[in-house]
Amino acid sequence: WTTGTGADAENSIRELAALAETAGSQVLDGVMQRRQSPDPGTYLGRGKADELRGIVDASGADTVICDGELSPSQRRGLEDVVKVKVIDRTALILDIFAQHAKSKEGKAQVELAQYEYLLPRLRGWGESMSRQAGGQVGAGNGMGSRGPGETKIELDRRRIRSKMAKLRREIAEMKTARVTMRDSRRRNAVPSVAIAGYTNAGKSSLLNRLTGAGVLVENALFATLDPTIRRASTPDGREFTLADTVGFVRSLPTQLVEAFRSTLEEVSNSDLLLHVVDGSHPDPEGQISAVRSVLAELRGEVPQEIVVINKSDVADPEVIDRLLLREPRVIAVSAHTGEGIDKLLDLITDELPRPDVTVEVLVP
Ligand code: GDP
Repeated sequence: WTTGTGADAENSIRELAALAETAGSQVLDGVMQRRQSPDPGTYLGRGKADELRGIVDASGADTVICDGELSPSQRRGLEDVVKVKVIDRTALILDIFAQHAKSKEGKAQVELAQYEYLLPRLRGWGESMSRQAGGQVGAGNGMGSRGPGETKIELDRRRIRSKMAKLRREIAEMKTARVTMRDSRRRNAVPSVAIAGYTNAGKSSLLNRLTGAGVLVENALFATLDPTIRRASTPDGREFTLADTVGFVRSLPTQLVEAFRSTLEEVSNSDLLLHVVDGSHPDPEGQISAVRSVLAELRGEVPQEIVVINKSDVADPEVIDRLLLREPRVIAVSAHTGEGIDKLLDLITDELPRPDVTVEVLVP
């Protein structure tokens, strides 16, 4: 169930399927239903839920993923009808973040978010899974159950809360260390450029293009909270740091917003922002405004922005022209073919803060 127009809902479902594939699933089929509001008992209306049961049986699916957030009772209700595991978009996204987190800080942040998600669902989850797995709580070992999932269901709320408090303290300490490092880069007066944009827009590919760094590029909705920072230089030999920030996804789980913000602080502390957009996406304007509205909420100022329309090799030229007219500082590039990259470097050179010029006044 999504609010908004039909096209919006379809984009959202398409992205959900891509997210599921990123998490390592094979997507078999889908159903959509237009309703005023989700059914309080089974999320989908009863008839639609029965239809879904038929699809599950016919396709041999072992999981149903809903494109919204389910209450514990909706989850249970729908599981009772379809007889397979039901997860929601939030659980799926948390799972992907858990798979991709590499740094200690990123891992701690995802774990905290998973506990936050789990806490209000403790009872509902335990009951429904124990019924399903024949009383064997903790048997779940698939999508949506990585990390502190069913296996830790026996932890009571108090223990989870104290674990969460410990994680928060650790995250705060790691953050202090990160800020100290950032300050030292700053003292060295190396200008910083941050790359932000929707997930799959081509941020890692662009980072590779600009630095030759060989960062992992995945043909998937790559979601990580760990910023990658590399050195690069302009054609006239000035050095700058380039930070690839977290990818944006639709309806980011509220449990991840805080973690996401702290990663995005790299953006508000940089001298220049490369806002990367996938020019071949059906709704690039929608993505641009979604990214901007999140950035606008950050503490601190949003730096000067260059909109980089990527994938010019495959994007519709009319869409590119439309975006070129709409944005003040904008360039179309292809991280794949290298088209436009030289021009982008020139633009970066123009926009980077000039080193302080010292003027010596000679007094005779
Ligand atoms: P990120 O999630 O924003 O870091 O995106 P990635 O750099 O991982 O790229 C996502 C996908 O888009 C990968 O399959 C890339 O190969 C593809 N991609 C990136 N840049 C281009 C481009 O300029 N042209 C085309 N055709 N594909 C691209």
